[in-house]
Amino acid sequence: MRAAVLLLALLPAAAQTPWRDQGLLELKATPQARLHPVPVRAVTLQPGFLKSRQDVTIGKSIPTLLTLLEEHGTVDNFRRLAGNSSNTPRRGPLYTDSDLYKWIEGAAWSLNVQPDPKLEATIDKLTDVILAAQETSGYLNTWFVEDKAKLRFQQMVTGHELYCLGHMMQAGIAYYRTTGKRKLLDGSIRFADYLLRDFGPAPKQPLLTGHPELELALAELYRTTVDRRYLNLAAYLLSGVERERLKLRDRDIAYIFSGIPFTTRTQFEGHAVRALYAATGAADYWLETGDPAYRRTLDLLWNDLVSGKMFVTGGVGSRASGEAFGEPWELPNRQAYTESCAAIAGFLFNQRMLAGSGDAKYADAMERALYNGINSGMSSSGTLYCYRNPLATTEKDRIRNPWYDTCCCPPNLQRTFAALGGYFYSTSKEGLWVNFYDNSTLDWRLESGTPLKATLTTGQPWKGDVRITLSPSKQEEFTLFLRIPSWSLGTQVLVNGAPAPESPSPNTYLALRRAWKPGDTVSLTLDVASRIIHANPRVAEDYGKVALQRGPIVYALEQHDNPGASVFDVAIDPRTPIVAEFAPDLLGGVTVLKHQGLTYSSPLDQQPLYTFSQPKASKPVSITFVPYYTFHDRGPASMTVWVPVQ
Ligand SMILES: [Zn+2]
Repeated sequence: MRAAVLLLALLPAAAQTPWRDQGLLELKATPQARLHPVPVRAVTLQPGFLKSRQDVTIGKSIPTLLTLLEEHGTVDNFRRLAGNSSNTPRRGPLYTDSDLYKWIEGAAWSLNVQPDPKLEATIDKLTDVILAAQETSGYLNTWFVEDKAKLRFQQMVTGHELYCLGHMMQAGIAYYRTTGKRKLLDGSIRFADYLLRDFGPAPKQPLLTGHPELELALAELYRTTVDRRYLNLAAYLLSGVERERLKLRDRDIAYIFSGIPFTTRTQFEGHAVRALYAATGAADYWLETGDPAYRRTLDLLWNDLVSGKMFVTGGVGSRASGEAFGEPWELPNRQAYTESCAAIAGFLFNQRMLAGSGDAKYADAMERALYNGINSGMSSSGTLYCYRNPLATTEKDRIRNPWYDTCCCPPNLQRTFAALGGYFYSTSKEGLWVNFYDNSTLDWRLESGTPLKATLTTGQPWKGDVRITLSPSKQEEFTLFLRIPSWSLGTQVLVNGAPAPESPSPNTYLALRRAWKPGDTVSLTLDVASRIIHANPRVAEDYGKVALQRGPIVYALEQHDNPGASVFDVAIDPRTPIVAEFAPDLLGGVTVLKHQGLTYSSPLDQQPLYTFSQPKASKPVSITFVPYYTFHDRGPASMTVWVPVQ
């Protein structure tokens, strides 16, 4: 008994956090975490902008995608290994296991929003199907079996075995934090333990994440189990010590963003999703250890990202070749690769950086991606997905599709939308943090233990009004941190109807420290004026052009709304206003931006390629911008975010 008590005293606090109370990231015992996410179930989105995205995710996208995964053999790939249909060949590319795991993760988080015994039973059944294919050693992958078994861990750069395990782990953790059921989690632990037995620094066999992802999953497994061996395995993968043993080429190291010490990286390069998952895993490692070399590298990479490699939509990845980052300021519009997964990976990277600092600039980057370059990834129907999210298209481009053989993006979008509430609020020892503004209720507690409810009502993203009612169970002094977005240049804040003495400034958290009592209200008026955005003139594709943003929403011209001229033949006239108008019947109800622009006397596709005098747009034309995230929702059309200014 005495020994047991001693043992408990030695365990970090995370071990004592019940599964129900764990957030998307379990950071309560994480040394560098200033902010701690609240559980997904603690936040209920109320009818509004993001709730409608979550509803379509849960009601339509998640169920229909499982049908498609079944039709394309993703689940049968597991069943055949359990002898149920072993005479059928394996189907799909070698990474399809991860698609099912990510689907389970999304479905698991959705149960926090909307309990569904049928869906829970489906996940239980799928878990049994998956685990029946797991070998007694713990190894599990449906590609490297039979005649390909000899190739296990021989194709480190392209094999995706560890990528699939990472997603299995995250699915297992999500389901455990939702239901308390450990089966899938324990299956992933068996595989991780198999790795720990046979792989690691010499004389063990070398290991490499050819597609980083396992690093962040291992960090979360450490937080879930409090077994430091999993964090150490992540550290080994990030340490990049196996370059020689694995004979990695320079171009591999650039492409996979792994294989050399993470702390020697100075810029983002190579495959965008790989690089951003590596940075996310490294940020997790820094959160747990505080290693200053990691923090320096993370800061360097973050600045590299936002100063020259992130699109105005929050999308990332400039080149189709290698699905890769480009050079700084290489941000092409129609050719933009901007995979949905890359925008999500950037979102997750910023989530960790926010947790470690409380710096609003990270939340701002999350918001830019969430409302634009992630939001565009799923149609309003919840059945069409973007793999790429370019910033310009022609009517010939087929960007939204119901299925991709490389089906990474659809379930990645699902797990993001299903768990949205888990990103909204955080706690710290100082109080409560409000990171994003949409209609929602919070039912949780302060870190002092005092139960706290909060209700947030807003017209965001279309309107600037936000009203928060706090209901702590008793009066208590704490700080309410309100994020003031970078786009809200003039924000007003009232506490119980009186102007707050603290003055809000854009891209910071406004800290309101009070003795808060039940029923206290805070009203914000965010400045949602339409804004013209200019790109750094080094972005060649955007030179002489501007984009429009209103609140968090980035806009685009789409041909559907612009019968007067091609969207590629119009210019903004800075002398005439941009008028915001709510269109309740358009695209589910959106605010459009109307403008008296200019066009050319004859269409540009009928004019010569080169002339001695600069063509001028001088003919007035009415143009209408719609939110970028809705592009092609009404079918393929010419579209552009960046528009010349005359
Ligand atoms: Zn993807």
